[in-house]
Amino acid sequence: MRTSQYILATLKEVPSDAEIISHQLMLRAGMIRRLASGLYTWLPSGLRVLRKVEAIVRDEMEKAGAIEMLMPVIQPADLWIESGRWEQFGPELLRIKDRHNREFALGPTHEEVITEFVRKEVSSYKQLPLNLFQIQTKVRDEVRPRFGVMRAREFTMKDAYSFHLSDECLANTYAIMHQAYCNVFERIGLEYRPVIADTGSIGGSVSHEFHVLAESGEDAIAFSSGSDYAANIEKAEAVMPSEPRPAATKELNTFATPDAKTIEDLKTLHGVKPHRCVKTLIVYGAPDEEGKRGLVALVVRGDHELNELKAEKHPLCDSPLEFAKDHDIIAAIGAAPGSLGPVGLSIPVIVDRSASILADFVAGANKDGEHYSGINFDRDVANYEIADLRNVVEGDVSPCGNGTLSIKRGIEVGHIFQLGTKYSDAMKAGVLNETGKNQIMTMGCYGIGVSRIVAAAIEQNFDAKGIVWPKAIAPFQIAIVPMNMHKSHRIPAVAERIYQELKAAGIEVLFDDRKERPGVMFNDMELIGIPHTLVIGERNLDDNCVEYKSRSGENAMYNLDTVVAELIAKIR
Ligand code: ATP
Ligand code: MG
Ligand code: MG
Ligand code: MG
Repeated sequence: MRTSQYILATLKEVPSDAEIISHQLMLRAGMIRRLASGLYTWLPSGLRVLRKVEAIVRDEMEKAGAIEMLMPVIQPADLWIESGRWEQFGPELLRIKDRHNREFALGPTHEEVITEFVRKEVSSYKQLPLNLFQIQTKVRDEVRPRFGVMRAREFTMKDAYSFHLSDECLANTYAIMHQAYCNVFERIGLEYRPVIADTGSIGGSVSHEFHVLAESGEDAIAFSSGSDYAANIEKAEAVMPSEPRPAATKELNTFATPDAKTIEDLKTLHGVKPHRCVKTLIVYGAPDEEGKRGLVALVVRGDHELNELKAEKHPLCDSPLEFAKDHDIIAAIGAAPGSLGPVGLSIPVIVDRSASILADFVAGANKDGEHYSGINFDRDVANYEIADLRNVVEGDVSPCGNGTLSIKRGIEVGHIFQLGTKYSDAMKAGVLNETGKNQIMTMGCYGIGVSRIVAAAIEQNFDAKGIVWPKAIAPFQIAIVPMNMHKSHRIPAVAERIYQELKAAGIEVLFDDRKERPGVMFNDMELIGIPHTLVIGERNLDDNCVEYKSRSGENAMYNLDTVVAELIAKIR
């Protein structure tokens, strides 16, 4: 590929609306561009990486015995009504109507569609087990799209579904898929951990999430010092003795906005614009309908300068709004987007499963209709973490009994599940068994966030100059940077020859043939994160040499006559 015929689209400045490093670098390296909230265009360099991740995932799925197919994004509502999820899924399910007023969903996942397919197509135990996968666009109307493709509204997922007659057979396929997931993350070169996950409302007994370890991760995972025990925080909580900890009160500086220690800092560093500030903002955590922590009320009290921010868990509080009714509270804010507080507020405050609060704004009106806006972020600027609302904290005795727990941040890149008969029961998906009787199949499902992996890989692989791609997913393997090519006769000829020879050997080469200063070219190639660079300059050519640089800092000189063979050996 010649840069002169390509869209590099690199940016010098750090885009102001990108909070985490992978989002910044994906924009700066010309990998993605935002179309609208949570919707991204993949530029050529980004797409090359995405396709490499896809190829690794596909290869490992095929090795694990899964078979590829492709299902529609648009799914009829009927199927979702049949499974019970048309109601259950809530506003994350993006619904549309066709010209005949029939309802559809844009698929956030495909259990219903695959179960519909298998119940029609598979009739005998002889056709089982079956493991089917696709790599496809998923749509989820995320309440809070953020971090670029990390939490997008449209994203690429690999989802696989397996069908069995017995739970033993399901467990067997599950173990194979678990190993295939480990292979994927190892091949890409990520530091990852499989953790046991809470099966929650989906039911079933066994589930694992795969997390890429990164400070920016939205999830918390608990590790035992004395054993292999690793679980997501919800799971660790679920198996802990159930007495909740006493209400914790924390000052702002324990939250995850490390640079903001006071409300004053929030104002200056994060553009908080107090309209009429309030004295205390208390955050209450309460279980949601499924008994999971997550629903949170923000309670704004008093009418003075907002100078305290506290997180509290109220053990008796099942519903923040109920709670608010019984207390001297000016404004209570329900976590459900758009939910109405007792004085008629509509509040875009969002809480995710790991109980981080993202304060879009904290505002309200009292009974007389007076307005409060204590904290007002226009953008993604704050991510308060209510670590103290958890029942599991660093140093707790591990649920396995050996050692204590340490808690790390993780990015969920994969999730596998022994579903059992949840969908096959609801949708009556059975086959004739050996005795000729109809038997409901048991199912597994296995998801990988293909596009999220691209961002997660950057979170673990960058430096001050840009991305440092693991070689398995780099957009190009090598860059050729001819210095001041247009002023020389020799340089273009040598560069062109090396370019052609590397290409012919199947190496992915980015040939920077722009009329740019060398510094500009180096910066771009480093920002994009290409693992190897070959620099062609007059002075080295006098010695029949070319200079080699690796993105990780290695330098070497190669003889012009042998450079291509040596590079091919090095890259492979
Ligand atoms: P999360 O907890 O991050 O919302 P999830 O548990 O809802 O993810 P799953 O239903 O388990 O997601 O989907 C399988 C995989 O799809 C996830 O492990 C994740 O890697 C990816 N994924 C889920 N939601 C998104 C999203 N909005 N943007 C990008 N990838 C996503
Ligand atoms: Mg989700
Ligand atoms: Mg999750
Ligand atoms: Mg999940």
